[in-house]
Amino acid sequence: MEELLQAWYRANERDLPWRRTTDPYAILVSEVMLQQTQVERVVTRYLDWLERWPTADALAAAPTADVIRAWQGLGYNRRALALHRAARHVAAHGWPGDLTELPGVGPYTAAAVRNFAFGDDVLPVDVNVERVLRRTQDAFTGAAAQALMDLGATVCLARIPRCDACPLAARCPSRGTRDEPTRRQSPFEGSFRQRRAALLRAVTTQAKHVDECDEDAVHSLERDGLVVVDGGLVRLPA
Ligand code: SF4
Repeated sequence: MEELLQAWYRANERDLPWRRTTDPYAILVSEVMLQQTQVERVVTRYLDWLERWPTADALAAAPTADVIRAWQGLGYNRRALALHRAARHVAAHGWPGDLTELPGVGPYTAAAVRNFAFGDDVLPVDVNVERVLRRTQDAFTGAAAQALMDLGATVCLARIPRCDACPLAARCPSRGTRDEPTRRQSPFEGSFRQRRAALLRAVTTQAKHVDECDEDAVHSLERDGLVVVDGGLVRLPA
């Protein structure tokens, strides 16, 4: 199936900026951003980020407050801190042999960086790739990673796969079947996540007096290292 998939990919590849580089730092930035944010929203933010901090050294030297500010709007702000710490680790010690030693880098992100930056034959299995593997019941090499991601994102969709447009349909045992709907993520509106995000957004522009702030959100953000409370003021870490 891999040959069929690759032929389809050559004609249908999504043009994404992180596919034009093998720089491990750039790949890491893209993967951390993509962990919980949609591709369309990541593209310009990724380009802006690399323009501002083109290397791990540059990001490592940035004040934490600037990194948190630059992350606003991408969500799940702890990723910004983890990426910053990872850059500091790389700037100080180089890239570790085991990439999961870097903050915020789990097995998936490590596999993606190994494959896309270092050319290792490992398959990063995200939710889209997992679905295609499960449905096709076939094995693919690391070289098929981007093609599997695109097929999963545009054809082998979770709810209603577009089997009529699929290059693997003739040999896919799951052709024409659908997955059961999965539980949706709890709504952001009205959630504690929203309260945290609102407070963090507010202190990115100006420190706020602790008495004016949502106390639970302050404690939670402080625990994560995203704010500090200092002299009665809640502000970003230096
Ligand atoms: S034939 Fe359908 S289920 Fe099978 S890989 Fe293609 S889109 Fe997915």
